[in-house]
Amino acid sequence: MKNIEKKIVVALGGNAILADEPTASGQIKALRNTSEKLVKLIEAGYELIITHGNGPQVGNLLLQQEAADSEINPAMPLDTAVAMTQGSIGYWLQKTLGQAMRNAGLNRPIATLLTQVVVSDDDVAFQNPTKPIGPFLSKEKADKRAKETGDTYVEDAGRGYRKVVPSPKPISIVEADIIKALADSGVITISAGGGGIPVIQKGNTYEGIEAVVDKDFAAAKLAEIVQADYLLILTGVDHAYINYNKPNQKKLEKVSVEEMKQYIKDNHFAPGSMLPKIEASISFAERTKGGKAYITSLDNVEALIHGKSATIIFDA
Ligand code: ADP
Ligand code: MG
Repeated sequence: MKNIEKKIVVALGGNAILADEPTASGQIKALRNTSEKLVKLIEAGYELIITHGNGPQVGNLLLQQEAADSEINPAMPLDTAVAMTQGSIGYWLQKTLGQAMRNAGLNRPIATLLTQVVVSDDDVAFQNPTKPIGPFLSKEKADKRAKETGDTYVEDAGRGYRKVVPSPKPISIVEADIIKALADSGVITISAGGGGIPVIQKGNTYEGIEAVVDKDFAAAKLAEIVQADYLLILTGVDHAYINYNKPNQKKLEKVSVEEMKQYIKDNHFAPGSMLPKIEASISFAERTKGGKAYITSLDNVEALIHGKSATIIFDA
């Protein structure tokens, strides 16, 4: 990685925030570690535009909402719950990254932005909801809810019935200009958390909807919009592999978009985990002139700055 004032969109995966303790202090602790690693990128001269997942956090929040649901204290809908987790995770990250920077003698402003991500109401995802959210219900309760609300419930791996919502592709970001202006003036931004609050444009308004935008796709859209030089997807593995977990697994280093598309066809990447990262990387590399996407682990960040390998996707 060359580092002179390069813009880099960093997408933090689940293990960057929730390592093992779901308490607020446990998540802050995990983010303290994450922030120390992110500071290495700032020290190396990169302009950071941060985004993050929220799967476990929004899942737990929905369970809390459900448990306390009553007429005077009604459960909040999914779009509002996503906004709430953007706020809490942004707060933790501002706190830990601010401290990590000061410890390193750096003093840069940080801002979290509640971010709405626009999806199209004729996205094919609306015909086939796939993303399980909220509590596990009995079949009877799920059937009743489905009738009352029109929501879809599916059996989830023998553990009960869960609501599924669509996972449409992001088409634009409502707050894009603000994010870009802040990034261009040296503010470290935290935005589009949890894939963003999914909205549909209706005339002059944006309407929040029950859907989940994949955080890797939202990160790629963000990177495209701010014309980042790099998209850095930080996850639990140092590389993407072909023949993953098989005796002949092989780590991928520098791979062209063309080659990656073939690996996708050959089913090398698990849907719901590595596949969206690869697809998001391809989308960014194709749509951004010279833009390169990196997939690696948080632990590998410092080594990467010093020339160690990661999975790098480029458009030849
Ligand atoms: P995140 O929270 O960062 O989005 P995910 O668990 O969704 O993380 O996705 C990353 C995981 O995908 C890896 O930790 C690994 O277990 C899994 N995975 C699936 N297929 C592959 C592959 N071909 N190469 C590497 N990892 C893979
Ligand atoms: Mg994931």
